[in-house]
Amino acid sequence: MNDCELDLDPALDGLDETLTDDEAAQLLTGRIFNIQRFSTEDGPGIRTTVFLKGCPLTCLWCSNPESQQTRRQLAHNDALCDQCGHCVTACSKQAIELTGTGVRVNRDLCDNCGDCVEVCGPRALRMIGDDKTVDEVIEEVLRDRLYYRSSQGGVTCSGGEPLMQAPFVAALFERCQEAGLHTTLDTTGHGSTKGLKAVLKHTNLVLFDLKVMDDTLHRKTTGITNRQILRNARVVADSPAQMIVRVPLIPGVSDTDANVTATVQFVQQLRPGIVVNVLPYHRYGMNKYNMLDRAYPMGEAQPLTHERVAQVVGMFEAAGLDCEIVT
Ligand code: SF4
Ligand code: SF4
Repeated sequence: MNDCELDLDPALDGLDETLTDDEAAQLLTGRIFNIQRFSTEDGPGIRTTVFLKGCPLTCLWCSNPESQQTRRQLAHNDALCDQCGHCVTACSKQAIELTGTGVRVNRDLCDNCGDCVEVCGPRALRMIGDDKTVDEVIEEVLRDRLYYRSSQGGVTCSGGEPLMQAPFVAALFERCQEAGLHTTLDTTGHGSTKGLKAVLKHTNLVLFDLKVMDDTLHRKTTGITNRQILRNARVVADSPAQMIVRVPLIPGVSDTDANVTATVQFVQQLRPGIVVNVLPYHRYGMNKYNMLDRAYPMGEAQPLTHERVAQVVGMFEAAGLDCEIVT
């Protein structure tokens, strides 16, 4: 059994009156790799999307590889590098070298201390992952409250997998709702059910990924079983939150007739009126793998044709489900 099938969030055991003040304060800190203002793809209206670091899945097509590890990570953008070499001198672990067009980091030696980032004038080097309290995030989020109000927007937590930091997300969403803001959880669905339920108490909309229905293929392409995901999908469907199912259309993996048919059957028995979003595969995240000194797992795989995407949409619609393409 993969570790991720176990209770992912032991901290949740403290989500009750027995919390000490220190424990409570700890739970209110989240590890975040990006806060994106004015986003329009992660729920209704104009939104701020808070991207949380750490994910139990390792999907081959992941376009946010910097989100996968929970720990902070060094990334390099070679387009900004002027080859000054200051980082090489600053690194006491001899983990970084110049390549002529940028730098290469030996990840076996690098301990993500960040010393090289301090001396990089052009900001070609940066650490990914910041720890922020709920108060700090709320302060940032509230700057755009007028835009949320005029567009029926709000706040989205995405990732990575937000459920890995469920106490933080629950606390953040509670504060958002107290401020009258709409909340959206964008999730792979893999997390402890206890954590999910804590978050759902303060969630208006759930964007729920259903990637691959066949468990063997799911394990092969995401690294873990889909059993907990399917279980949690039913939990969301039974909650008062609005639910949109999101299906990434990955060539040869999830765009097959067999997978679409199985997805249709599963969604139909969740609850009536669920909208399906299909997200056609793209290669936009490829450069991020270079920044982390990783090979792109999808190799030369190309996006689907418009015709194939239209066929898949047609399959969902023929089954009576509303289906939209999200790019
Ligand atoms: S983060 Fe630290 S260990 Fe890694 S390359 Fe930079 S200075 Fe070296
Ligand atoms: S310090 Fe920054 S700009 Fe200079 S070589 Fe290193 S990565 Fe490039």
